Amino acid sequence: MVDVVSEAVSMIESAVGRLRNVFASGRRWVGIRFGAGLAMIGVALALALVAADAVQAAQVNVYSERKEALIKPLFDRFTETTGIEVRLVTAGASELHERLVAEGADSPADLLITVDAGNLHRAKLAGLLQPVESAVLTGNIPARFRDPGNMWFGLSLRARVIVYAKDRIRADQLSSYEDLADPKWRGRLVVRSSSNVYNQSLIASMIAAHGIDQAEAWAAGLVANFARDPKGGDTDQIMAVAAGEADLAIANSYYYGRMVASDDQRDRDAVAKTGIFFPNQSDRGTHVNVSGAGVTRAAKNRDLAIRLLEFMAGDQGQRLFAELNHEFPVRPGIARSAVVAAWGDFKIDPLDLAVLGENNMEAIRLADRAGWR
Ligand code: FE
Repeated sequence: MVDVVSEAVSMIESAVGRLRNVFASGRRWVGIRFGAGLAMIGVALALALVAADAVQAAQVNVYSERKEALIKPLFDRFTETTGIEVRLVTAGASELHERLVAEGADSPADLLITVDAGNLHRAKLAGLLQPVESAVLTGNIPARFRDPGNMWFGLSLRARVIVYAKDRIRADQLSSYEDLADPKWRGRLVVRSSSNVYNQSLIASMIAAHGIDQAEAWAAGLVANFARDPKGGDTDQIMAVAAGEADLAIANSYYYGRMVASDDQRDRDAVAKTGIFFPNQSDRGTHVNVSGAGVTRAAKNRDLAIRLLEFMAGDQGQRLFAELNHEFPVRPGIARSAVVAAWGDFKIDPLDLAVLGENNMEAIRLADRAGWR
């Protein structure tokens, strides 16, 4: 796909070059032999040349971890508003990362969209991003949801929540992430593998709150409470609770939102058996993370990439970007979707999300020591 795009760009470039040559030689003949006829051809060629240049310039290339259906409507709106075309390549976070590393300075990507401060931090460390100074971005996005060096910017918020079986657990029995390590929950909890960045970031937040030793004791207590060995994604954990395999699951809020809004009756029936709980409301608040983006170091269309970023951080972009995936807007004061609004307000852990990236390697080692596979 990317090869096709860069091939098309170079074809346009050589065509434009040829047009320029033809036009230049044509101009020398104007008024000598072909007169007005050739002048008109010249004008037409000039227009084609301008159009070709415009097509080539007004385009931004995006590598996105977020799937097309969850982002295309936003890009369409951006194109309608600005006339700037967006070329989209979607793949998994690590695949995009490896691709950017392999392509280096030749990468056609201008903007990387990915999820989790852990992944954004990795891209920054690998030298795949470049700093962006933008009053719109720093004005719209709270400081704790973006990189202190302006390498990446959070665009939507997701909470890592507890999902519980309504017929077996009451919400007032739940309290915090810490409490999930209590022996009273033995054999009743499901959560995906610690190889997943969402759990690494949750552990990173526990390290920030309690230090490494206490966070490790917590992780070991969590593992002792597992109803089964970790498998599947967050949706599978919610399904396991609905099916009675466990009483509690840890999952990102938008997976819950997707099931609530699903076209599939089975999803809606399953999620109806469960409740969503925002932990740590009586102390530091619920752990949140972002999906976000950064301008690539290799960007050929840097200014356009920044315009797209600013659009995504603006009112219209924020509403769409958050709503399409049942997330929370990162910009304060933007309305939430009906599904998300129904969960009510909650207290967010004020931790600077850059810390999640900084603690990532420590979190991976800790999970390994605690036996969280
Ligand atoms: Fe996800």
